[in-house]
Amino acid sequence: MEAASDSRRRLAAMESIASPGGSWRRTARAAGLLAPDDEPRLTIFAEMSALASATGAINLGQGFPDEDGPAQVVEAARRAIADGRNQYPPGIGVPELREAIAEHQARFYGIALDPDREVLVTAGATEAIAASILALTDEGDEVVVVEPYYDSYAAVTELARARLRTVPVRAPAFVPDPDELAEAVTDRTRIILVNSPHNPSGAVWPVEVLERVVALAYEHDAIIVTDEVYEHLVFDGRHAPIASLPGGFDRTLSISSGGKTFSTTGWKVGWVSGPAPLVRAVTAVKQFLTFVNAAPLQPAIAVGLRLPDAVFEEAAAALRRKRDLLSDGLEVAGFTVHRPAAGYFVVADAAPLGVEDAAEFARRLPALAGVVGVPVSALVSEARRDEYASLMRFAFCKRDDVLERAAAQLADLRLA
Ligand code: PMP
Ligand code: GLN
Repeated sequence: MEAASDSRRRLAAMESIASPGGSWRRTARAAGLLAPDDEPRLTIFAEMSALASATGAINLGQGFPDEDGPAQVVEAARRAIADGRNQYPPGIGVPELREAIAEHQARFYGIALDPDREVLVTAGATEAIAASILALTDEGDEVVVVEPYYDSYAAVTELARARLRTVPVRAPAFVPDPDELAEAVTDRTRIILVNSPHNPSGAVWPVEVLERVVALAYEHDAIIVTDEVYEHLVFDGRHAPIASLPGGFDRTLSISSGGKTFSTTGWKVGWVSGPAPLVRAVTAVKQFLTFVNAAPLQPAIAVGLRLPDAVFEEAAAALRRKRDLLSDGLEVAGFTVHRPAAGYFVVADAAPLGVEDAAEFARRLPALAGVVGVPVSALVSEARRDEYASLMRFAFCKRDDVLERAAAQLADLRLA
C-alpha cells in the first residue's frame, strides 16, 4: 500500500518538475531559444562553440581571441592572486579599478567621474546590462534597441517584464535611421539601449545619430543605456561615447568591460558609470545578482586601463589587419562582405553562394568548409528573421594563420 502511494507521489513530482513554471520559458522564448518541444536551447554562441569542438572546425562563431592580451595585465592578475587578493572585494568594486575607470573616461573622452559614486564594477558587461534593465524598468515599460542585437538584450528585457521595441539596421551601413528611431521612442520608452560599436555589424554610429538619441531621451524622459564594449577596437572613424555629447551624461549609463580591450573575455570584469542616482539604482539590483566577482582580476584590469595609448592603438591596428585578412578571404570565397568599422566581427552575405537560410548553412558549414560562424538571424526578433536570412557573422579576433586557413577553406567551399 505504502509503496504504491510512494510511487504515485514520485510520478507526480517528476511530472511537475518536467515542465516547471517560472520565468525561464518566456526568457528563452524572447531570445528565440525555446524549441517547439518546450526545451530551452543554449545561446547561438554556446551552440556554435560546441559544434566547433565536436567537429574540430575553426571557430569563428563566438567572439573570443585565441591569444592573450597585454602581458602586464596577465602578470598583474598572477601577482594579485599570489598577494592574497582572493576574498570578496567591495560591493562596488576595488578602489583602484574604480579610479582607473574614472581616469580612463577622463583621458580618452573628457568625461569626469566620481569613482566612489558614479562607477560600479560588474561581472562583465553582461551583468551591467542585466542589472541596468532590471533596475530601471517596470512591467510594460519599453526598451528601444536596434536589431540585430546582442542576445542578452531581448532575454533580460523579457525577464524584467518590460517590452522590447526594435529598430532594424540594414546592410551595408547598419546605422539606425534617425526618423525610425524617433518613431520607436515614445513616452512609454524607459530605456534607449545603444550599442556602438555594434555587435554584430561593427558599425560606429555617426555623432548626428547619437545626438538624436540624446534629444529623444530628453523629449520622452527616457534613460540611455549604452553598451560600448568595443570602444577601443575601432578601425575607421572614431568612437564618440554618447555620455561625452552635450547633455548626454545626465541621462546615460555607460557600460563597458575589459574582455575585448585586453583579450580577457573569460575574466568577466565589466563596469557601468553615470550619474550617481542611476548608478545607485543599478547597484541595488547588481548586489543581488552576483554581489561581487573576480577579486584578483579587478586590479589587473586597472593596470590595463592605465597602459599607454600606444597599447590601445596597437590592439586596434592588429585587429584591423585581421579584419582585412578574413574579409578578403570571404570575398574570394564569393560572399558579399560588409567590412566593419570596428569590433570583432564581419557580417557577410552568403546569398551569392546560393544560400537562402544562413541558420541551416551555419550548421552545415563545419562539414562543408571546416569553419564555424553565426547566422545573423539568431540575433534578431522572430518577426524580422527573413530580412536577415542569408547573413552570416564571422569573428576575426583570431591568430593570422588561423584566419588564413579559414579563408582558404572557405574559398574551396562548394555547395552541393
Ligand atoms: N555587449 C556586447 C555588444 C558584446 O558583444 C558582448 C560580448 N561579446 C557583451 C556585451 C558581453 O561582455 P562581457 O563578456 O564583458 O559580459
Ligand atoms: N559577445 C560574444 C559574441 O557576440 C559572446 C558572448 C557570449 O557567448 N554570450 O560572440
